Amino acid sequence: MNDLIIIGGGPAGVAAGVYAARKRLKTVLIAEEIGGQSTVSSNIENWIGNAGISGADLAKSFQTHLEALRNDNVTLALGERVVSLEKSAGGFSIKTKTGKEYSSKAVLVASGASRRKLGIPGAEKFENKGVTYCASCDGPLFADQDVAVIGGGNAGFETALQLLAYAKSVTLIHRHKEFKADPVTVEKASMHPNIRIIRHSEPTEVTGEQFVTGLTYTDKDSGETKSIAVTGIFVEAGVIPNTDFAEGIVELDAIKRVKADPRTQRTNIDGIWAAGDCTDELYHQNNIAAGDGVKALEDIYLWIKKQ
Ligand SMILES: Cc1cc2nc3c(=O)[nH]c(=O)nc-3n(C[C@H](O)[C@H](O)[C@H](O)COP(=O)(O)OP(=O)(O)OC[C@H]3O[C@@H](n4cnc5c(N)ncnc54)[C@H](O)[C@@H]3O)c2cc1C
Repeated sequence: MNDLIIIGGGPAGVAAGVYAARKRLKTVLIAEEIGGQSTVSSNIENWIGNAGISGADLAKSFQTHLEALRNDNVTLALGERVVSLEKSAGGFSIKTKTGKEYSSKAVLVASGASRRKLGIPGAEKFENKGVTYCASCDGPLFADQDVAVIGGGNAGFETALQLLAYAKSVTLIHRHKEFKADPVTVEKASMHPNIRIIRHSEPTEVTGEQFVTGLTYTDKDSGETKSIAVTGIFVEAGVIPNTDFAEGIVELDAIKRVKADPRTQRTNIDGIWAAGDCTDELYHQNNIAAGDGVKALEDIYLWIKKQ
C-alpha cells in the first residue's frame, strides 16, 4: 500500500511530487505526461524566478527536478491515464487505461483541465499559428495587430480588455444575443474605441496560409456568411476539467471541478485532496497550481502521520 497517489504531472502534481519525495512518502505519480497545459506555450514570462522559459523547457525542468529528488520514494507512472478512483480497504484504489491498479492511503487529484477547443475547420491546423487559448501568454505577440476573441463570458471580455492594451483592434464574437459576462465588464469593454462586438454569430472557419489571416462567421440574424481580417484568434470557450474518474466519488461543482478547501486543498472525502486547475480555485495559473500542490502535501503529510 502506497502512502499517496498523485494524479497529474502539471505544476500542481510535480510540486506535490517534489514535496512527497522530500517528506519520504511512498508515492506513485500517475500522469499522461510531465509538464501540463502550458507545455505548448512558446514563452512563459511569469513562472517566478524565470523571466522567460518555453513550455517545453519548463516541462523538462519539472522532470529533472523530480528525477533529482525522487529516490525510491516517488515512482513515476507516465503515459498512463487514470480511469477510475474507488474507496477500498484502508484507502483508495485506482485503475488506469492500460489496466494497471494502484492503491494508497491518500490521493491527490491534480489532473488539471483542457481548454474547450474551437471545433471549426482551420482551428486545429492554425493552433499556435494565430489560434491561441491563452491571452496572458500569447497576447503580447499580437501587439499592433487586429485580433478576434471568441466567447461572450467573463473570460472572453477580460481577454478582450487585456488585448486592448496592445492590439490594434479587437473583434469579440459571441454566438448568443445575450452575454454571460458581468454587465460591468461588458460596459467597460464596449466603451473602448478599438473594440467591435459581434453578437449572435457563429464562427465557421479559420483561414490563412502559414499563419492565420482571417475568420469567417455566420450572422445568425441574417444568415449571411461574413469574414474579418485578423492575425490572432483568442478562444475563450471555457475549460473542461479532467475529472471524469472522480465523478460520484468527490463533490464536484456545477462545471465538474473538484470542490476543495482553499486552506488545505481537502475535498469532502477524508483522504482525497485536489490541487490546481481541476479544482474550483478562482484563478488558474502555473504558480497557483504549484502552490496548491505544495499546500496539499503539507496537509497530506500531517494526515498520514496521524493514521
Ligand atoms: C496554452 C496555454 C498557455 C498557458 N500559459 C500560461 C502562462 O504563461 N503562465 C501561467 O501561469 N499559466 C499559463 N497557463 C495556465 C497553466 O498552464 C495552468 O494554470 C496550469 O498548467 C495548471 O496546472 P495543473 O497542474 O493544475 O494542471 P495541468 O497543467 O492541466 O496538468 C494536468 C496533468 O494531469 C494529467 N492528466 C490529466 N488527466 C489525467 C488522467 N485521467 N490520468 C492521469 N493524468 C492525467 C495531464 O497529463 C497533466 O500532466 C497556460 C495554459 C494554456 C492552455
